[in-house]
Amino acid sequence: MKIINLTAIFSLVGIFGIACTSTDSTDETITEKTTRTIESKDSLIPEIPDSLIQFDASVSAEKRKEIMAKISKKYLMGKFDPAKDERFSKIPAPYAQKEMFMRIEALESFKKMHAAAKEAGISLLIISATRPFDVQKSIWEAKWTGMRKVDGKMLSKEVKDPKGRAVKILRWSSMPSTSRHHWGTDVDINNLEPDYFSRGQGLKEYEWLVANAAQFGFCQVYSEMGENRPYGYQEEKWHWSYLPISKDLTNAYAQKISDQDIGGFLGSESAPMIEVVKKYVLGINPDCL
Ligand SMILES: [Zn+2]
Repeated sequence: MKIINLTAIFSLVGIFGIACTSTDSTDETITEKTTRTIESKDSLIPEIPDSLIQFDASVSAEKRKEIMAKISKKYLMGKFDPAKDERFSKIPAPYAQKEMFMRIEALESFKKMHAAAKEAGISLLIISATRPFDVQKSIWEAKWTGMRKVDGKMLSKEVKDPKGRAVKILRWSSMPSTSRHHWGTDVDINNLEPDYFSRGQGLKEYEWLVANAAQFGFCQVYSEMGENRPYGYQEEKWHWSYLPISKDLTNAYAQKISDQDIGGFLGSESAPMIEVVKKYVLGINPDCL
């Protein structure tokens, strides 16, 4: 497959150099300029998967990372293949038991956290990591069409209005394009049942994570709901996000993606009715922002 040279594309649109020069500006202004320029030119380069972009050798690793994290709406919405993306790595045993992928830096930090937990008698297993758009779409549509029940109900029969039906599914599953699992920075650990973490070994595991995960960059994005987090998903004690990357992605999502961008699956018309970007994507624990 053809590799696309990003510098050449930037040259074509008249912005060559923004990604690699730093002689006369502070880091802050470069970041602002880079972000702004990429946003304004996004419409000119919408169809390029990140995995096909090759930077000019003069672009620093730091700058490259920054641009890659911000450039693609497709990445933010999970429309890419993590198995073919150089920023992702397969999660080896014993960290996961089935084939899953994760952003490389996030995985490296998870390994360190896993080792520290082990010393304290706690075992951490990743039970879900990167889930691309198509995977999320099949989960969502199975629930939307009633093929899979939600809280014991066939929603296609029992909830006719799209907003109500979507809200019911959102109790347990993200809408395709809006899941943090698209990003490769977020993992589900050990169990998906709230009860599991309220007693015994599950409680010990959760308490260990609360006390230690931050040292390794991980944050519980779906914290308890209340004044600090008035809307969004119910609490998920198993879902942890690697902030050194995901913080930027949350910000990029807020800047680049609106409810009108959400589409390509059954029931997507409900996205603006629910304000899914504001309430679900951005309705996270403020400590993780
Ligand atoms: Zn999760």
